[in-house]
Amino acid sequence: MAMLAAVLAFASGAANADAKSPKIGFSIDDLRVERWARDRDFFTAAATSMGAQVFVQSADASEQRQIAQIENLIARGVDVLVIVPYNATVLNNTIREAKKANIKVLSYDRLILNADIDAYISFDNKQVGEMQARTVAALKPKGNYYLLGGAPTDNNAKILREGQMAVLQPLVDKGDVKIVGQQWVKDWSPSEALAIVENALTANNNKIDAIVASNDGTAGGAIQALNAQKLAGKVPVSGQDADLAAVKRVMAGTQAMTVYKPLKQLAAEAAKLAVQLVRDEKPVYNAQYNNGLKQVNAVLLKPTALTRANVNLLVTDGYYTQDQLTGK
Ligand code: BGC
Repeated sequence: MAMLAAVLAFASGAANADAKSPKIGFSIDDLRVERWARDRDFFTAAATSMGAQVFVQSADASEQRQIAQIENLIARGVDVLVIVPYNATVLNNTIREAKKANIKVLSYDRLILNADIDAYISFDNKQVGEMQARTVAALKPKGNYYLLGGAPTDNNAKILREGQMAVLQPLVDKGDVKIVGQQWVKDWSPSEALAIVENALTANNNKIDAIVASNDGTAGGAIQALNAQKLAGKVPVSGQDADLAAVKRVMAGTQAMTVYKPLKQLAAEAAKLAVQLVRDEKPVYNAQYNNGLKQVNAVLLKPTALTRANVNLLVTDGYYTQDQLTGK
């Protein structure tokens, strides 16, 4: 019996966790998207500097692929899984397998729902949503609003909307703002956002005064649709991520704002947290979320709203060079 237990323990990943050199499996929804490639690079750099080894997988926006890749990482014997879920609600069985093998699970940027995860790290997404709506409302205190939500499979999309509505609902109640339509954008796809806004403009005879878009990719699609109607720059559009193209639009005046989330800080804190989980140390948390199954300890970092007035912060913070912002 003891022998069998020993063999099983050896076969399961984290049972032979090497506290000095933990193995981290980083499963990312979609590395084809600008920000996630940055997350990967910052995370890998931070984790390797702590002596950890990182195995990265990109699911390219496929829930089956992500499940298969996580199963593969479990089979490779990683000590901790760091996951950016494509679909928040489908990973519970896979995570049960990980937990059976004594592997810790950290939900990265997006909360995994209904699963036994150990911790969550992200930016304060409610605050991001508030910043988006607040900046747009300051520019258009009255008028017809269109709400362009994130992917319905991403829990962040819902938290962002909560933040947006916390600002907009009082304006709706006063009769100043009318929400003329809202849509979730599948996979946060810019081309889907373009089609949605084209249709919304047609349905409203172009009488849309403001668009609360939930990230820079979808803002790009919305602005393309506005541009075709000569409305770009007249209708404020929000975003988040400080994608290079979006920052350029903010400087050019076609996008009202973006939100800067220092990914280097997120990645470094996440790498530290992942290693602490493997070493059974006590991480410092500053929030808790109910993920449907349990109260999950969380670390929430602070976002910063960026308009044309303060985009230069990106240069002083080393996120972009001056040349990247002003060069062609
Ligand atoms: C992230 C955003 C990102 C979006 C699309 C969200 O969960 O918080 O930063 O733009 O996913 O990838």
